[in-house]
Amino acid sequence: MTEDNIVIVGGGLAGATAAKTLRAEGYKGPLTLLAEEPQAPYLRPPLSKEYLLGKEGEDALPVVPAGWYTENDVELRLGVPAAALDPGARMVDLADGTRLRYSALLLATGARPRPIPLPGSDLDGVMTFRTVEDSRRLRDALAGGGRNVVLVGSGWIGMELAAAATSYGNTVTLLGLEQVPLAAAIGPELGSFFRSLHESRGVRFRLPSSAAGIAGDAGRVTGVRTDDGDVLAADLVVVAVGVVPETSLAAAAGIELDNGILTDASLRTSAPGVFAAGDVANALHPFTGRHHRSEHWSNALNGGKVAGRAMLGRDAVLDTIPYFYTDQYDVSMEYSGFPTLIEGPPVIRGSLEAGEFLAFWQRGGRVVAGMNVNWPRSAKPQKAIKALIAAQSPVNPAALADPDVTLEQLLPEP
Ligand code: FAD
Repeated sequence: MTEDNIVIVGGGLAGATAAKTLRAEGYKGPLTLLAEEPQAPYLRPPLSKEYLLGKEGEDALPVVPAGWYTENDVELRLGVPAAALDPGARMVDLADGTRLRYSALLLATGARPRPIPLPGSDLDGVMTFRTVEDSRRLRDALAGGGRNVVLVGSGWIGMELAAAATSYGNTVTLLGLEQVPLAAAIGPELGSFFRSLHESRGVRFRLPSSAAGIAGDAGRVTGVRTDDGDVLAADLVVVAVGVVPETSLAAAAGIELDNGILTDASLRTSAPGVFAAGDVANALHPFTGRHHRSEHWSNALNGGKVAGRAMLGRDAVLDTIPYFYTDQYDVSMEYSGFPTLIEGPPVIRGSLEAGEFLAFWQRGGRVVAGMNVNWPRSAKPQKAIKALIAAQSPVNPAALADPDVTLEQLLPEP
């Protein structure tokens, strides 16, 4: 191979973490981070929570302090997307006409809001939600309260936006295709818990129901037409119906795709020298032997670390158990595990009514996923849940539900 020159495409958490890892692992060669957005890489989870609620400022968002890139000799090219990739020649074309040669390249291009062809989507007051500008704009619109907000989509982002909008004193209606919100992510039992939480704060659900179009007057939104012919009054509409992995560069370069960019467990794509990490990567997971594409913070963080090491030819495998969290009103939830392995309803320890519980899902008697809701963090429930999943030993459901049995007692003898 010719001289080292590592290029990272995508200035999100995965890209920035890979850059940090490369320097921490002692890579001293040229390192370029291409970021399409005008801001240096930032964290997205606060955009629908603390930042949107005005509890955190923009200073809480950057992945690394602003001076880190210069101090570590990382060339950060903001607002300059990569436009084309030639894996045969190991060249990447930038939108500004520059060409860069690479010895290894990471695709950390993330995901974009799923577009839906809704007539009226171009009216003022209709938006999708992914970036810090989206969050700033929504915060400005919500902060005064008293507005009719319609959220299209009953997934995590829709639910978090519902919590924020309600907390500011707006009237919120949430539309979704599911019978129960979040059912696709955590099943109907726990989805119903979140629905009740929101209803107790005044959120109205229209489920299952889909938006058929958006009504407006003088270029501004006035309502959302549902598929059953109703019109819901709206001053503001956020369409949050999931994301699609940003695979356009990889697709045009002939890299193998299937629900994102396919990689092995070391995040290598089908093109030599090209790696993928974060929301865009559908990586082989050694635990399940299947490919998993995760759209969560911890996957971008861990994937960035693994990609950084793998690009240096080190042994590195993404084998962490998937994890994510959400905060809505005064409810904090954490979840670890493999939703695709779940068989049957959850086992609950604690009380759904009181809003403090653990939930476990099993397959063939083994724990494959677990959640804690408002459970004391000092008890480190996620550490124990991950250990139970990793142990792969059958666990008696009655013992899982029994608060007198510690989770550590359920682990097999070392
Ligand atoms: P991204 O963050 O999407 O970054 C990719 C970057 O690449 C983008 O800036 C994009 O513009 C850029 N890019 C794309 N194409 C190009 C190109 N050709 N050239 C240059 N740059 C390009 N996860 C949780 O676990 N818990 C949460 O509570 C949570 N809350 C969230 C709230 C919101 C509002 C959002 C949007 C996400 C949330 N997530 C949460 C998910 C989490 O933030 C993502 O999984 C994570 O951001 C993925 O990081 P990434 O680096 O893979 O991609």
